[in-house]
This record gives sequence, C-alpha cells and structure tokens, in this order.
Amino acid sequence: MRYCRFQFNQSAHYGLVESVSGVDHITRIFLQSPHLSDGDLEGLPSRRIDRIPFADASLLAPVEPSKIVCVGRNYREHAAELGHEVPAEPLIFMKPPSALLSPGGTILRPKISERTDYEGELGVLISRRCRHLRDDEDVHPYILGYTCVNDFTARDLQNKDGQWTRAKGFDTFCPVGPLVADGLDPWAGIPVETRVNGDVRQSGNTRDFIFALDVVLRYISRVMTLNPGDLIATGTPKGVGPVVAGDVVEISIPGIGQLPNPVADES
Ligand code: MG
Repeated sequence: MRYCRFQFNQSAHYGLVESVSGVDHITRIFLQSPHLSDGDLEGLPSRRIDRIPFADASLLAPVEPSKIVCVGRNYREHAAELGHEVPAEPLIFMKPPSALLSPGGTILRPKISERTDYEGELGVLISRRCRHLRDDEDVHPYILGYTCVNDFTARDLQNKDGQWTRAKGFDTFCPVGPLVADGLDPWAGIPVETRVNGDVRQSGNTRDFIFALDVVLRYISRVMTLNPGDLIATGTPKGVGPVVAGDVVEISIPGIGQLPNPVADES
C-alpha cells in the first residue's frame, strides 16, 4: 500500500496512491491520519475521490513526526569518505520537524554556511508506540512504511560545532517523500540513489548497513519512546557532496519514487 499527503480543496489530506492503467493516481483520501492507524492502513476510514494523477498532485511531505531521529555513519564506505572510524554502536542525532520540506520544495542554503551537502537516505515511519524493544521482539509491527529522506547538512558547521543540531537543523534541510510505501525489505536490500542535475552521485543499498534496521530501532527505543508517525533516517551511503544554488537534488528508491528538490541561496 502506498500513500501520500497532498493539498486538496484548500487543506492537507493523506491520499491512497494506486496504479490505474499503469499510471499512479490518488484515488481515495483518508479520513484519519495513517499515523493513527496502529499499522492497519487497510482498516483506515477513507473516501473515494475523482482520481488525481499523482504527477499533478500538490504534494506535501507525507509525514508529521513528533521527532526525526537519524543514524550517522551507518555505511562503512561513507564513514571512510569523511575520514571516520566505523562506530561501535549506532550513532544517533535528531533533526527538528521544522526542517521538513515537501517534494519539489526549495532547499535554502543559509548565508552562514559555505558548504551544504545532500545525503540520500531510506526513511522509516513508525506505526505504533515503541519503547524498550526486547532483543527477541519482531520490529516489523512497529514499521508503517518507508520513504525517501534527504538529510541535508551544512558540512562546514557540522565539523565546526562538534555536535550537529545546527548543521542538520535549518528550515528546509529535511525533504521527505514523495510517498510512504510498505512491502519493502531493507534487510534484503533496497537501492538508494541520489542524483544532482541528473548525474548519479550516490548509489547505495541498505544491505550494506553497518547496523541493521532492527538493531537501530531497538537502540533508539531504549533511549526515547518512538511515537506513531515518527521518522527514522537510516544513514547515507558513500558519495555525499556539495550542492549550490541552481542545482536540483533527487533521491530515488524503487517502490517509493523520486524526491526532487531545487537548491537556492537564502535571500
Ligand atoms: Mg545522514
């Protein structure tokens, strides 16, 4: 099942995305947030609408998380390219929900940063309250679905500050979308690709995670309660690099789609 969030009749709605004659359309709107479904998307009340071609929809970020928890250095080759050791346990940090940006929205480079980098990542949506997951507990019931995340970063400020709140937290530094899909298997491997102006810059696969998704979720759940709708960014593969005003960054994951965002300088 796939769903998006979009502007419809002057307000934001979650919509079911279905293929009609091979073309994706929004066919229904949900009458409740999917994040209140306890993972049962099929049972969520919905209303049929005149179908809208997905490509024509005014998309919003398909998430409204209470928090965004990110994993740093979760791919060996990415840790190496930044000159870091492979961490002994998951390295987590947060981005504020105020950094969220819609598919197609403009990423604004702040004046105080000289270097801003894309980081294409698999995003994981939490389906139900999650606290102190046991080692023998299956994590699948806690996962609502998957999406694309661009963990946009002011690299110079990240290196300067020692902790990452500022470097990762600017408004527009968390593009997410274009939709949330279930049925993907990060343990088996999901390709994550980043293009800048059409050129492939990152081509990773979640099978190369240093810490598998169940390890990551357990680790986070022992620190903080994860709420339905919370978003986990699972780390970026090698190939990070800078973008400047006028560039377009696009993260893509098969089964989810493309997350394009133009880049501009803050005025
Ligand atoms: Mg990252």
